[in-house]
Amino acid sequence: MLYVVATPIGNRGDISQRAVDVLRGVDVIAAEDTRHSRPLLAHLGIATPLIALHEHNERRLAPRLLRRLEAGESVALISDAGTPLISDPGYPLVERARGAAITVVPVPGPCALVCALSASGLPSERFVFEGFLPAKGPARRARLGELGGERRTLIFYESSHRIGAMLADLREGFGPGRGAVVARELTKKFETIRGGSLAELCEWIASAEEHRRGEFVVLVRGAEPAAGEDLGEQERVLGILLETLGPREAATLAARITGGRRNPLYRRALELRGEAGEGVC
Ligand code: SAM
Repeated sequence: MLYVVATPIGNRGDISQRAVDVLRGVDVIAAEDTRHSRPLLAHLGIATPLIALHEHNERRLAPRLLRRLEAGESVALISDAGTPLISDPGYPLVERARGAAITVVPVPGPCALVCALSASGLPSERFVFEGFLPAKGPARRARLGELGGERRTLIFYESSHRIGAMLADLREGFGPGRGAVVARELTKKFETIRGGSLAELCEWIASAEEHRRGEFVVLVRGAEPAAGEDLGEQERVLGILLETLGPREAATLAARITGGRRNPLYRRALELRGEAGEGVC
């Protein structure tokens, strides 16, 4: 069996009993950084052998681990913090394991995006996780341009050295009045969950060096429908077009007929077709 095990994102008390039992019982733990995970495992009294599986070796190592799994060994996959595969290594191994009919067992636990969303006060029924935005300014702004009309709550990860520039780009891309939340150092001593407009949050982040320290989740309220945008009508037209056309063509035509925006219509078309998650055109 391959176990995908979530570990704490700061507070060691957040490890689950089941995670401890699994980590103690498997033949080997594949850890993103063995030096990082050793202190946690020692604290938990776990002496299971470790092997490093990180973004630079995971494609090479996955077949080897797969052979061990096929030979009947059990493997636990952990990352430095939170849930593996969520902006963390592990996808090639899980993909291959499932392809080889190995049982993959999730052992759920901390995940920064869910933790932040649950306390953000922003709509949580529907949301999109964008992970890290591109590091370079032009690429980042281009991505934000694609996301400007997104109605669902948007969730991003960001590091301390880019948080100021990232918030400034969000303010330019989405407008200074758009509501957002900065969740910093979750589950740790200096946990801060600050809400406000993007303009206010830019000021706040610039106002003290300690505000820029640590790890960040940034959540942005989804876009309001533009004035005069009749969603009911757009959806009705989209529904009719989807009876005979693919999502791309239906969205393009629906946008032309109703004056709506194509990307949100395309996303909606994918949802209606049950194909959400394919990205926008
Ligand atoms: N796999 C992890 C998860 O389940 O959330 C995420 C790993 S990703 C490499 C690391 C990023 O997650 C950080 O740069 C930050 O954006 C976010 N993050 C992780 N721990 C956090 C925390 N305690 N508080 C706020 N953000 C955190």
